Amino acid sequence: MSSLYFCQECPTCGRRVQIRVEYLGRTLKCQHCQGQLFAADPVNRRFDCAERTDELLRRADELLESVHTSNAEERSLSRGTTD
Ligand SMILES: [Zn+2]
Repeated sequence: MSSLYFCQECPTCGRRVQIRVEYLGRTLKCQHCQGQLFAADPVNRRFDCAERTDELLRRADELLESVHTSNAEERSLSRGTTD
């Protein structure tokens, strides 16, 4: 009677599927195409994505910074030798 549903996009047919909250974490069949569908909390999935992006950005920043510092060192070194 008090069952809660949430909507998720089917990876096979791209249509919205209504999933009961008690089926979270289980593999279900899509109501439209009968394809397999893993019932995952969409809020948690979004959080995972954000975390991964943050880590990638942090690594990119570190790489850029190390490249920038080594370039600056080289430049000051070569400037010292040519003088
Ligand atoms: Zn489907």
